[in-house]
Amino acid sequence: MSLVSPAELFAAAAPGTGVAAVNVILTEHLEAFVLAAESRRTGLILQLSQNAVAYHGSLAPIGVAVLEAARRSTVPIAVQLDHADDPALIREAAALGFTSVMYDGSKLAYDRNVETTATLAAELHRAGIWVEAELGEIGGKDGVHSATARTDPDDAAAFVASTGVDGLAVAVGSSHAMRDQSAVIDLDLIRAIGGRVAVPLVLHGSSGVGDDLVRAACAAGIRKVNFGTRFNAVLTASVRETLAASPGLIDPRAYLAAARAAVSADAAHVLDVVSAA
Ligand SMILES: [Zn+2]
Repeated sequence: MSLVSPAELFAAAAPGTGVAAVNVILTEHLEAFVLAAESRRTGLILQLSQNAVAYHGSLAPIGVAVLEAARRSTVPIAVQLDHADDPALIREAAALGFTSVMYDGSKLAYDRNVETTATLAAELHRAGIWVEAELGEIGGKDGVHSATARTDPDDAAAFVASTGVDGLAVAVGSSHAMRDQSAVIDLDLIRAIGGRVAVPLVLHGSSGVGDDLVRAACAAGIRKVNFGTRFNAVLTASVRETLAASPGLIDPRAYLAAARAAVSADAAHVLDVVSAA
């Protein structure tokens, strides 16, 4: 049984290093990520986003699979419902046994975001669940904000104090769904926010950030590093390559096994990067 709270992973991670949080869409992602974590003997956070749940049609079948994979793993794994704004879905995840929830109230006006986040955080804390929230929108979701969005350190301190959240997603230059690693991360801003906020800071959109900058961001104070897009790029490129080479294939195992292995190798690389001091 190694389903844990993210708090345990942050406590175990060396100062100046991060904990990887990786997005599950298919069971192939799930198997690839657990294999990578076990091969590297390091913990990680498996995330299932509200969008991924919508793709599957409901939370329980895929959510139970993610939880069971964590429980059976030989390394500590936390399971988070990611970018959720539906209170009913959040409560369903809590009841299933998710150990972490990211409530995304970034589309709400500031006061309403604070009020809703605080209420949900108090409820989830009673169930022992770790709560991440977001102040202002990180670039890339719905195109509302660009990579130029920035979290103000004073706003961050006030938001954490008034909501009681355990982790804060910050806008410091990364953007969701980037296909290259061209994001420029504001390391001074990470240090400034870290100086005002005691809870772990979370970098979203880390697929768009180069390895050296991921390491530098962790050294500056990022503790949770979220990756999704890069694994989808690796998975799809592998499938495309296999099918181009063998157009007659029809058994999905024939092309998904190679894709899963490629995702696992990339996840192992990510784990090496974030855990390097
Ligand atoms: Zn995100």
